[in-house]
Amino acid sequence: MEGLTSVVLSLGSNIENRVLHLERACEQLAQNVGRCTKISRIYETPPFGFEAETNFLNLCLVLETNLTADQLLETLQAIESNLGRIRSDSGYISRTIDIDIIFFGDQIIKSDKLTIPHPFFRTRKFVLAPLIDLGNDLIDPVTHLTIAQIFENCIDKSPITVCKKLIPRPQLFNTLHI
Ligand code: ADP
Ligand code: MG
Repeated sequence: MEGLTSVVLSLGSNIENRVLHLERACEQLAQNVGRCTKISRIYETPPFGFEAETNFLNLCLVLETNLTADQLLETLQAIESNLGRIRSDSGYISRTIDIDIIFFGDQIIKSDKLTIPHPFFRTRKFVLAPLIDLGNDLIDPVTHLTIAQIFENCIDKSPITVCKKLIPRPQLFNTLHI
C-alpha cells in the first residue's frame, strides 16, 4: 500500500503486571498505529539511569503506519496514558509503559518534540538487544551502521536476559494480526 512508513518502536514496563502492559500496548498499537510486521523477544533489564525495585521488560517491534511522526508521537502518548503512565518533570520514574520511536522509516527528524532516530538508542542495550531480533536489514540512517555493529561498540554493560518463559509470543502475534 502507498503512503505507509515502516516504524520501529521500543516498549518498556517496570510496573506489574509488566507482560500485561506490554500486551495491551501491542494491542492498542495494532488498532491505532498500524499492522505489526515484526516483534522481538522480551528482555529483562535493570532500570537504566534511576533506582527502582522492579526490573524492566523490554521489546521492540516494527509497524507499518500511515501516521506522520507527530501524529505517531501523540498516539503513543495517548496509549501510555490509557495504560496508566504517570509522567514526572523531575527525571526518570517507574512506568507502566514507555513507548519510544527508534526509527521512522529512514528519516532524520529534529524538532522540539521529537528526535529520530531516538537520541539514546545507540547507548542502551535494552533497546539494541531486541532490535537485533528484528533482523539485519535495519540501518541507522545517521551513522549508517547496522544494529549489530552498534551493539558491538555499545559501552552499556547492564545485564540483560531473554525471558524465555515470559514470552507470550503466540498470543502477541494473534493480537497483532501477524
Ligand atoms: P523517556 O522516554 O526518556 O523516559 P518520556 O517517555 O517521558 O521520557 O518522553 C519525554 C519526551 O521525549 C516526550 O514528551 C517526547 O516529546 C520526547 N521525545 C523526543 N524524541 C522522542 C522519540 N524518538 N520517541 C519518543 N519520545 C521522544
Ligand atoms: Mg518515552
